[in-house]
Amino acid sequence: MRRKLAAGNWKMNGTQASLAELAAMQTAVTDAVDVLICPPATLVATAAAQSGDIAIGGQDCHANVSGAHTGDISADMLKDAGAGYVLTGHSERRTDHSESDADVAAKSKAVWDAGLIAVVCIGETLEERESGETLRVIGRQLAESIPDGASAANTVVAYEPVWAIGTGKVPTPELIAEVHDFMRAELTKRFGAEIANGTRLLYGGSVKASNAVEIFATSNVDGALVGGASLKAADFNPIIEALS
Ligand code: PEP
Repeated sequence: MRRKLAAGNWKMNGTQASLAELAAMQTAVTDAVDVLICPPATLVATAAAQSGDIAIGGQDCHANVSGAHTGDISADMLKDAGAGYVLTGHSERRTDHSESDADVAAKSKAVWDAGLIAVVCIGETLEERESGETLRVIGRQLAESIPDGASAANTVVAYEPVWAIGTGKVPTPELIAEVHDFMRAELTKRFGAEIANGTRLLYGGSVKASNAVEIFATSNVDGALVGGASLKAADFNPIIEALS
């Protein structure tokens, strides 16, 4: 039985004052759902110290443990700060920092080596969808962004169509199901049924309270990775509740 996961990505938003929202989110947490917030790196340690049942994650990490990489942060450092998860391959990292599937795989491996859970993000662009390339792109990203050694315990996969992130556009449940069913089948082929059936598959892209129930009723959707609607408890708590 896969535990549902409501994951929030605060992106480059949030200061110490934002931790009041984290406190307000704790009131929505139940035994039925895992909740994760990925604040900016500056807030990981403070958030982790006061997040209660809400897990805290990093938004990215370097593939190395330490060294001469000014401005970067390692998975070990995130673990030391109290993180339990790290996002890898978010489309904004792939675009803003030219991260390739190989980079994402190396980072995901670093996350595992630190003993943390990688939330590996994949998703097609609008151009790829409109040219009928979606499943080919998703298949390639799954194969090349997730290293050998994935397990249900160390990996979560987030399907985030790039054209749905922050745009208010959401694929129909049929389109989400097509990709999620495909991802489950691809993971089964590569890792076997036990690992594939235990691995949580999140949908991400303009999830909000008003569409969460429909999205969560979709085949093979085990939760959501939420950007904008995870910043405020008033927006995120109904999403947590829709999963509970
Ligand atoms: C995200 O940042 O991963 C995301 C899905 O953003 P939004 O929910 O704002 O579309």
